Amino acid sequence: MGEKDDKNTTQHLTAHQINSSVAQQVAMAVKSTLGPKGMDKMIIDPLGDTVVTNDGVTILTEMRIQHPTAKMIVDIAKTQEEEVGDGTTTAVVFAGELMSKADFLLSKNIHPTIIIKGFKNAADHTINFLNSISESIDDEKLIDIVKTAMTGKSAELVKEYLAPIIVEAIRTAKDRDAVLLESVVGLRVKDSKLVKGVILKKKKVHYDMPNKIVNPKIALVSSKIGVLDMGGNTSVQVTDPNSMEKFFAQNENIVKKMVNKIKEAKVNVVFCSKEVDDIAGYLLNKEAVLTFKNVNMEKIEALAKATGAKIISNVNDIKEEMLGKAGSVEVDESYVSVNDCENPKAVTIFLQGGTEHVVDEMRRAVEDAIGVLSILIDDKKIVGGAGAVEMEVVKEINKYADEFSGKEQLVIKAFADAIEVIPTALIDNAGLDSIDVVSKLKYAHNEGKKWAGVNVFKGEVIDSVKEGIIEPVKVKIQAIETATDVVNMILRIDDMVAGEERSPQNNYGA
Ligand code: ADP
Ligand code: MG
Repeated sequence: MGEKDDKNTTQHLTAHQINSSVAQQVAMAVKSTLGPKGMDKMIIDPLGDTVVTNDGVTILTEMRIQHPTAKMIVDIAKTQEEEVGDGTTTAVVFAGELMSKADFLLSKNIHPTIIIKGFKNAADHTINFLNSISESIDDEKLIDIVKTAMTGKSAELVKEYLAPIIVEAIRTAKDRDAVLLESVVGLRVKDSKLVKGVILKKKKVHYDMPNKIVNPKIALVSSKIGVLDMGGNTSVQVTDPNSMEKFFAQNENIVKKMVNKIKEAKVNVVFCSKEVDDIAGYLLNKEAVLTFKNVNMEKIEALAKATGAKIISNVNDIKEEMLGKAGSVEVDESYVSVNDCENPKAVTIFLQGGTEHVVDEMRRAVEDAIGVLSILIDDKKIVGGAGAVEMEVVKEINKYADEFSGKEQLVIKAFADAIEVIPTALIDNAGLDSIDVVSKLKYAHNEGKKWAGVNVFKGEVIDSVKEGIIEPVKVKIQAIETATDVVNMILRIDDMVAGEERSPQNNYGA
């Protein structure tokens, strides 16, 4: 300690070592959840709330990681989730393994620049290769895509049931953001369904209002229905009782006029994003207009997409052609559903399950599936899962490495080895002997069986595409790309300097 000359080199080494070890530890945290036989994790937050999940990005986010390098690894999962909706664990586990290979190469005195270049080169080659081996699929295979994406989550048990619902949802809405998820706890999972419309957890304004309206005329209102607001602190100076009465009468007239406009337009359902006051609620109930207030704007917009309604900002301008249509609007104990819209541009997957944990994990699985499906709408290119595509890449990259020599070759081979961690983990997690099964897979791939993967239940080699274990090629490409970029970014860091805290008063410019 204290010898200045040594201190610098020690620091450099330590920065690398710490970063690398942190990255690998984060990857380790999710490795055991990979694949159909992966385990779940229970995360307990400081308040004692628990989350039980198999979802990579959820585990990493819930862990509330502080270390900057660890955050970079968590960001891999987040990017993966945002871009393609699935493959988060794969991306993180691969990054951890690539980091450990980098450590090995560094220990052989290979300079970081050479490693970074080699990894980038290998990743680019892998991505081109993945595009070249991917296959196009027909629409009926989309269900298999969903099942593969839902694998391993507790929703696994109901994926047969949910998969067609999810496919139908994305086909109807045609856009990931137009598929809403709503859930209630307490009912059977098998009561989950696709609603061609919108579900809102809202109670009607007045308990006497109707509970069901067939072929409703729906108005979406974005301003208050009721007496005018005069701002929080305005007070009315009342000098004599007559003027007070006049004031109330005037106000009531304003409300009456609003409700009349609604009635004249033949509206029988109102969703209002603002307040509907007591007088308005009373009058609307008298007209049997089913009314909901304080509906959040996102739901109003979804309702507009589903029913074809225009959002009305001033009730006095209401016209019949601004109204939306649906098959029915039905009120239930804790929610209201707008059903059977014609050509809806927004739909709702309504999830039901026995407990909050079940419903939450179902929701995550369905979100993954929706993400995966939505990237396939334009480009139906898939690869075989169950370790098949990774084994094919390993074979290709090893071949590619032979075009190089010396250190460059070592780096590219290390990249291929790192990819192998995915099939290895799938097999290990299933309690099978990965050395044995991986060598069987290698043999099959050398025989030209490009989609040879593992049946994790039997330990046998199968044709993953024939078995319907398929994933969008984009999921794999994204995983390789982000993981390699982040590992290279970490490798470029050769020192960590604690930044001084900045405040506006301090000017460090000079
Ligand atoms: P990720 O977060 O990376 O999607 P998962 O836990 O969902 O992690 O596991 C995905 C891996 O499981 C992929 O490699 C996929 O091919 C594989 N997989 C999915 N379904 C099966 C199956 N039925 N048999 C074997 N492997 C499967
Ligand atoms: Mg997955």
